[in-house]
Amino acid sequence: MNQMLKPVPAPDADSRPFWDGCRDHKLMVQRCTECETFRFPPHRFCPHCRSEQREWVEASGKGEVFSWIVVVHPVPREVYAGDVPYVVSLINLDEGVRIVSNIIDCDPHAVEAGMRVEVAFQPARDDIVLPVFRPAKG
Ligand code: ZN
Repeated sequence: MNQMLKPVPAPDADSRPFWDGCRDHKLMVQRCTECETFRFPPHRFCPHCRSEQREWVEASGKGEVFSWIVVVHPVPREVYAGDVPYVVSLINLDEGVRIVSNIIDCDPHAVEAGMRVEVAFQPARDDIVLPVFRPAKG
């Protein structure tokens, strides 16, 4: 029987600083150095002022749940059978950008809009560390 592996992201030139940050347990986002607008995912141009000037900065790692689903059926990815139920969420970071991630360490059915969350980091494979979120403490 084939051993199925969960897919992991493949960093490219644009996203490499983000994944390097995750490995160091830092949630990195791009910020325009012209108008200071944060942007995520990484992009060459600022969506606000179109500048190509940018830097990577460490985000607070804090935000709130905007939307979410509870995955209860692993098909077509049977490799996730041991994980269900799990939460896939759109999270608004305090920096004003939105990230897709999982919410862990809570009852999936207790997740609600506006719930405060904070980043945590989970080693995956191939040197990839995934950012996930858990209910914020205090
Ligand atoms: Zn800008």
